[in-house]
Amino acid sequence: MSDEFAGFVKKAREILEGDSGLEDIEDYRELLCADCAFYHHGEEENEECGCFLLLKALLERNAFDLEKALRELE
Ligand code: SF4
Repeated sequence: MSDEFAGFVKKAREILEGDSGLEDIEDYRELLCADCAFYHHGEEENEECGCFLLLKALLERNAFDLEKALRELE
């Protein structure tokens, strides 16, 4: 596995194994922003880029297969 998406992989695994949910904005931040070079935890928490909004919207609609994405990245 590449470390490029280590934050996404860690959070996705936790969600799929039932150790974490995908309920509040912090869960989405951990999943989608952890590997982003622009992310600084605790700063600019209200900033949401287009990629974040798109992936969040797809996840909320069950239109993003988290399990398949994790398989591809592991
Ligand atoms: S909202 Fe977008 S730009 Fe900001 S940290 Fe998350 S992925 Fe990066």
